[in-house]
Amino acid sequence: MKIEVAEFAGFCFGVKRAMDMAWKELENAKENIYSLGQLIHNTQAVGKYKEKGLKVIDAVEGKISGSIIIRSHGVSLDVYNALKEQNVSIVDATCPFVKKIQDIVYKSFSEGKAIVIVGNPKHPEVIGINGWCKNSAKIVKTIDDIESYSWDDSEYSVVAQTTMNIDQYEHIKKKLTATVDHIEFHNTICLATKERQDASKILSKKAQAMIVIGGYHSSNTQKLTEICSQNCPTFHVETKEELDMSLISSYSHLGITAGASTPDWIITEVVEYIQENSK
Ligand code: SF4
Repeated sequence: MKIEVAEFAGFCFGVKRAMDMAWKELENAKENIYSLGQLIHNTQAVGKYKEKGLKVIDAVEGKISGSIIIRSHGVSLDVYNALKEQNVSIVDATCPFVKKIQDIVYKSFSEGKAIVIVGNPKHPEVIGINGWCKNSAKIVKTIDDIESYSWDDSEYSVVAQTTMNIDQYEHIKKKLTATVDHIEFHNTICLATKERQDASKILSKKAQAMIVIGGYHSSNTQKLTEICSQNCPTFHVETKEELDMSLISSYSHLGITAGASTPDWIITEVVEYIQENSK
């Protein structure tokens, strides 16, 4: 059986960087190490970090002592201030691409511009970005949201959630341009998501079947499963234990892809398991 892993699969740059920073902290830990929210949507990886001593908290409440890791999604200015008041040491693993958006929003807002964020208002990245303009942003997830806001003569500065779908962003941009007189756009979409989706699509057209590895609750993994299943039989698993070899051993060319929160070691385990059990 030929097993082929997609050109882009698993951790993106920002998630890998955050996970490496967190691991390094845990290895050198002399005090409590917290993370503000789950580092990633992957049960196995989160379990491994917790075993190593990571304590996950949902909010900065009560007294914290030790170090706190800010995950790749980033946080609001208020959260940084709350952490500074507590005198905890901050390990800032905000993805540099997200940091760039926060800087644009902070600068534009300081210059008196009104902020628009194209993205999901419930996503932690968007909640964090909004916190750099005193939570004043108009958040546009779909074209219809544009009509739900009133638009005045202000100068508007627009940023996008890094994982926003490019086509959807372009539609929203077109409508905003037609709706608002003074508006500037900053295309802050990160290509990591698109690269993973494109690579999975290409491979699923060549392979006889696809295995998609990633958390069942990870939306980018679900999206990869959806894309691949349009082209060939597709099996979504979280770990090697869930592979049903009776379903896949008859294929001579198997493609593998993985969501952006799937660590390399889980991908390697799946590949090795299939190699050993398909002989
Ligand atoms: S998807 Fe892009 S912006 Fe988001 S963490 Fe990964 S590299 Fe950073």
